Amino acid sequence: MAYPLADAHLDLAYNALEHGWDLTQPLPVLRERTAGPYRPTVTLPALAEAGVAVVFATLFVDPGRYPEPADAARAARRQLGLYRRWEAEGRVRLIEDDRGLVAHLARWQADRIPGLVLLMEGAHPLADPRELAAWYQDGLRILGPAWKDTPYAGGTGGTGGLTPAGRELLSAMADLGLALDLAHLSEAAFLEALDYPGPLLVSHANPRALAWREGAGPPANRHLSDAQIAALADRDAVVGVVLYNRFLDPDWAPGSPLPLARVAEHIGYLADRLGWERVGIGSDLDGGFGAEATPAGLDAPAGLLGLAPLLGPRARRVLGENWIAWLRRALPG
Ligand SMILES: [Zn+2]
Repeated sequence: MAYPLADAHLDLAYNALEHGWDLTQPLPVLRERTAGPYRPTVTLPALAEAGVAVVFATLFVDPGRYPEPADAARAARRQLGLYRRWEAEGRVRLIEDDRGLVAHLARWQADRIPGLVLLMEGAHPLADPRELAAWYQDGLRILGPAWKDTPYAGGTGGTGGLTPAGRELLSAMADLGLALDLAHLSEAAFLEALDYPGPLLVSHANPRALAWREGAGPPANRHLSDAQIAALADRDAVVGVVLYNRFLDPDWAPGSPLPLARVAEHIGYLADRLGWERVGIGSDLDGGFGAEATPAGLDAPAGLLGLAPLLGPRARRVLGENWIAWLRRALPG
């Protein structure tokens, strides 16, 4: 029996709505039809074929395009609406609680329909933490307070910690039972947020020691310092490794292949410090880059199983079971 794979970070609705991509098509069809801005890596049939049973699917709104919370909220609502439409059409199942997860996994063995858990990446669509209850009602289960800086927290490239509004947001999240995604938080905000009483995760980030060097790559604080990783060790959090060449090797040159062994190195680095049950995949495979910038053989979800020989007997945990076990603890009953 095939084991279920899980990916803790895909921007499905963002890609569908921002680029006008029809993600209900097989991947080769979408690739033929699309002119850019980059080569697609993920569609719903491609996830089904690859055996991806669970995806943390984002509500991601670029604050540069939608600086006003009301506009950002409308854009996020359109993404949520698309996920719900896919659900109504029988293309995905939205997972909102543990019972739903267990039922989904049983049905997945037969129908291979991907299950989605909704994750808001950056809280700027919320004008006020009190708006969170309505989003929870509509199925949101995971929230990352920042992408870049938001009114709630320092984010990628920023230095600020949690703001007073950010503290309020975390307390509203805890009351509702949402999981807190630490990805993209500035180091200061990350360390402050560790006292969050609810479920914690880092949906998509890599160890800074491997992902960054002075003068190369994205801002250093996009990735986890050794101090951040050490601080996570006594928390029940899983970290998802990003499958983006620029994050895997700061010296990667566009056009050159990046060996899969490099992905296994990132996974091993985290596992050595957190344990093999605390590492998963948060591919971000469609996160503003395309097949041109993914590791060799990983230009589509079907490539995930190519990591299995490098991971040995731990493969099924890293590629799926760790996130599923985390969800069983994190989702409401
Ligand atoms: Zn991201």
